[in-house]
Amino acid sequence: MGTVPLRADEPPIATSGLNALTEVEFSQLSQRDPNPLGEKALAIHPEQWKHGETEHFVYHFAHSYVATPVSVEAEFHYRVVTKELERERVTETIDTKSHIYIFERPEEWQQFQVFGKLEPWSGGIHSAGSLFIQRNPAYKFSNNLLGHEIVHLVLHRLYSDAIPCWLDEGFAQYASKAAHASYERARRYIAKPHSDAIAEQDFIPLTALVTMTHPPSDRVETFYDESERLVRFLASTDKPSFLALLDALARHQPFETVLPRIYTARFASVLALEEKFREYASKDFGTSLQQMND
Ligand SMILES: [Zn+2]
Repeated sequence: MGTVPLRADEPPIATSGLNALTEVEFSQLSQRDPNPLGEKALAIHPEQWKHGETEHFVYHFAHSYVATPVSVEAEFHYRVVTKELERERVTETIDTKSHIYIFERPEEWQQFQVFGKLEPWSGGIHSAGSLFIQRNPAYKFSNNLLGHEIVHLVLHRLYSDAIPCWLDEGFAQYASKAAHASYERARRYIAKPHSDAIAEQDFIPLTALVTMTHPPSDRVETFYDESERLVRFLASTDKPSFLALLDALARHQPFETVLPRIYTARFASVLALEEKFREYASKDFGTSLQQMND
């Protein structure tokens, strides 16, 4: 079958070379995690935890061959997101690192889960800027689950006051799907980002979507898909306006006030936006995602 390109989420063999994450003593880490969940994680079989760090993240893990591909993907997504949000300059002044805890054994992951709230879509837990995930070394990840969670971490660093749920989840999907596709392309896989259309009868009215504080348990999938499409729609309609909207929403201004002010000529109200967005949301868009990482 010829040569198979290396993938960053490939287990052991691919990661024993020069780029393997270097193990660092806990006391030598450049930063601590103030998050109490981090302390709880490290208290589960404390003897197993090793530590390492890269430019923007600190990792806690049991095996470096599991942590190394995570670190590669983390830094990759960091670059994609800061570029997409035009924050490369700004982030140079933020030197705090996000902490990522990688569990391997299912029983320990279950033990830890009682402390945090699982994200229904990805199964990871993110809390106050730290990420807790389970990676089974025997299992290959080929989707954007990890990328999605890493986008949340980067967003949290840029907008630490929290942004609305639809925007957080929608952007995490939007950016991680595109990044994943370009990641695969960089390794010569043919990959096109895929975006799921919303069935007309499942559509969540925008006035409801933008005020939800968590994905509704009976419509989790629609919530993620529709949020992603809304982000995509707003960003592709006018990128500078989208960035201005993100800033305003991160300062907790109401969507219905901010939208007509920023997208003045385009959407006079949330209803006007909804009218145009409904059609966009139900279209099958599998191949039309703009590349963000050229
Ligand atoms: Zn999420």
